[in-house]
Amino acid sequence: MSMSTIQPIDGHRNDFSIVTDGGGIDRPRAEAAVRDLLEALRVDLNAPDLLDTPKRVAAMYEELLTPKEFNPTTFPNDDSYDELVLSKNIPFTSLCAHHALPFSGVAHVGYLPGERILGLSKLARIVHYFSRSLQVQERLTKQIADWLETELIPRGVGVVIEAEHMCMTIRGVQAAGSKTVTSAMHGLLRERVATRQEFLSLIGASS
Ligand SMILES: [Zn+2]
Repeated sequence: MSMSTIQPIDGHRNDFSIVTDGGGIDRPRAEAAVRDLLEALRVDLNAPDLLDTPKRVAAMYEELLTPKEFNPTTFPNDDSYDELVLSKNIPFTSLCAHHALPFSGVAHVGYLPGERILGLSKLARIVHYFSRSLQVQERLTKQIADWLETELIPRGVGVVIEAEHMCMTIRGVQAAGSKTVTSAMHGLLRERVATRQEFLSLIGASS
């Protein structure tokens, strides 16, 4: 087992490691498996366009399923800033756990600071970190919110994700353009209606 982790803030222990089997992705085995799959689908792998396809597909999955580690820098909240900190429209792409097809869209991530403030770019990094695995949108939303709640200990957390799932647009119901919206709220964003409404109006959602 190998683990890819976000370094914990201030020595907290986090339970948000993404565990992969067998020390990372086995590239030769993935290439062989893609070759097998395409052959089973009666694809002619000798066609010029397809000669390197197994290699490219394996490399693509490796990229899409390898979370980028980062150091979640924080700063003391010396000015006692007590309003919402929000990154909206963070673009992301993930792979759905059910079909391994992409789902992509935007995440809005906000928090009400407690004693620490997180480096601004880190909200996007957290979204990208948890996107890089076979995901369900509900779980992705919750993992981002839970990570902030546990690691940053803010007074409130709000995460809203809007995404289009290719498994719904190019196959199945073929509902092109439909968006799936999920949300997770903690602390004051969950408990205080006015704060939640402020968050929702800042991200442009109707409350
Ligand atoms: Zn799916």
